[in-house]
Amino acid sequence: MNGRRGVERRKRIWLKDPHCANCGRLVAMHQFELDHIVPLHQGGPDEDGNLQVLCNGPDGCHDKKTREEGGYRDRR
Ligand SMILES: [Zn+2]
Repeated sequence: MNGRRGVERRKRIWLKDPHCANCGRLVAMHQFELDHIVPLHQGGPDEDGNLQVLCNGPDGCHDKKTREEGGYRDRR
């Protein structure tokens, strides 16, 4: 992915709703990760409609979701 386009998309999604989609906390530009609602490896599309804001950091929702996706994959 082109780095500059990635940054613009990130900003665009964030401007639409600058809150964490999971816990609802207001996040700044540097405090979130762009997350695919349906992960790409599960067939989710790489488009705005499948993207959401998740807070990052050691106890952030993005970290937790990524861990859960990894952990549950084998059980389904
Ligand atoms: Zn959160």
